[in-house]
Amino acid sequence: MMTKVAALYIATGKYTVFWPEFYESAEQYLLRDCEVHYFVFTDAAALPGEENPRVHICPQEAYSWPFATLRRFEIFLKQEQALRGFDYIFFFNANAQFMQPVTREMLLPRAEKGERLLVVQHPSFYAKPNYEFTYDRNPRSTACIPYGLGKYYVCGGVNGGTTPAFLELCRTLDKRIRRDLQHNVIALWHDESQINRYILFRHDFRVLDPSFCYPEGWDHLPFPCVVRIRSKARYLDIPALRKDAPETQLSPAVQRWNHFAMRAARWSQNHLFKKGK
Ligand code: UDP
Repeated sequence: MMTKVAALYIATGKYTVFWPEFYESAEQYLLRDCEVHYFVFTDAAALPGEENPRVHICPQEAYSWPFATLRRFEIFLKQEQALRGFDYIFFFNANAQFMQPVTREMLLPRAEKGERLLVVQHPSFYAKPNYEFTYDRNPRSTACIPYGLGKYYVCGGVNGGTTPAFLELCRTLDKRIRRDLQHNVIALWHDESQINRYILFRHDFRVLDPSFCYPEGWDHLPFPCVVRIRSKARYLDIPALRKDAPETQLSPAVQRWNHFAMRAARWSQNHLFKKGK
């Protein structure tokens, strides 16, 4: 039987402009030997492709920034029953676009290596030391990662896994995000901070290089561009959409502690644990 793959896609508010090119490029390049279904969480009345039986329109009200992205796991879990019928689930940011064929070998977690999840290194951090990663550093947040820890900084825009592993991630992170919101806390980069914390002590993930999260206009990356992340500024007025967005400030005491912890991590990595060149 053909492998069944669910592609999760959120397009609420103005983000619906990204759907046509995402959909066309996915039909052309994404896992051509699998049965790919699209779960499109949207408040749009109509979208191109909706007549395709593999396109499932899931009505979703628009949340203000950053809740459409922060609350994505709660949004996905509304379709949990339907998603259980798939072998793999992947999420793609609305502005993703496939530029080359994406095969099973390139994307799927490899069971023989113990992999169940799929994450992609963020193009801004793949070559940086971990004390420069923009992990959440707020001890009150469930996504907090102390300075000195962490091997990868992965992007929020492309991730996935086997269905059981990905649904488990959604349930865990949905709970953590709700707990944070009850305490009036929002992790620094929302879902991205949460995913980075989720994989911190795990070994069951496959990590891809930034080919799968290649920002439009960045021609200097030493990777082929497989998944292009289109420039949002070309389509939307992002500062207007993010005006007055809630975010959590670190207390002065935490800021002082973090400043010290960052320098200690930097010093010890550069002097004590220097990696041979
Ligand atoms: N999103 C949406 N409507 C919004 C805001 C975000 O549908 O008003 C979804 C969309 O899928 C987008 C994702 O949330 O790609 C992440 O949003 P963001 O603007 O943070 O994109 P990033 O900063 O990751 O490029």
